[in-house]
Amino acid sequence: MCERLEEIKKRVSRACERSGRDPAVVTIVAVSKKKPAEMIRKLYNCGHRVFGENYVQEGIEKIGALSDLNDITWHFIGHLQRNKAKLAVLHFHWVQTVDSVRLARALNRHAAEQGKILNTLVQVNIGKEESKYGLMPEEVPEFLKAVSSFSHIKIRGLMTIHPFSVSKEESRTWFRQMAELRDNLSRAFPRIDLSELSMGMSNDFDVAIEEGATIVRIGTALFGPRD
Ligand SMILES: *Cc1c(COP(=O)(O)O)cnc(C)c1O
Repeated sequence: MCERLEEIKKRVSRACERSGRDPAVVTIVAVSKKKPAEMIRKLYNCGHRVFGENYVQEGIEKIGALSDLNDITWHFIGHLQRNKAKLAVLHFHWVQTVDSVRLARALNRHAAEQGKILNTLVQVNIGKEESKYGLMPEEVPEFLKAVSSFSHIKIRGLMTIHPFSVSKEESRTWFRQMAELRDNLSRAFPRIDLSELSMGMSNDFDVAIEEGATIVRIGTALFGPRD
């Protein structure tokens, strides 16, 4: 498992070199959904500290089982229902999938109650697919206006699960659209921090980095296939 991690770090570095970026700005989120806590522990022992889970209950069980590893940063990357917002705030450091003002409001309220500031990303449905969650690109400005006064969630940028693509070059077109959207929003909302772009998975993370990703979410390439 350490070898896989080292190989991925190398690919991240090479993608950064190709695009003239500093590898230090790219975070690898190890996506551990459907994998046991012991596999997370193994990757931790290789030196990795950032993990992502898709399901609140499954995530909480593993976070509990690994509570001795107290320097892990946990990202929630699945669809979050509002009635699970409190638990998500309690156990996760980041929620990458904020896709409505109502969810943002619930997270903000629970973070305030728990005396925390939650890191969040705005999930964008860049391919405008029926089957996917996330705000439509044109809905993001209104969302940002509505949440700009929420003091216990910190918007850090945008996240997307791009449409299934048969090639890396096809993925690239979606990554480009995300980077462009982010750049336009940054100009329109100079006081909101949109520096993070979470995009790219096992199949195409190097292309995502070439197009500006600062967070890549990698499951299969680290942990092997899920059943
Ligand atoms: C499962 C998942 C990933 C990881 O996908 P791989 O192809 O296994 O790397 C990344 N992001 C999200 C939101 C996921 O659900």
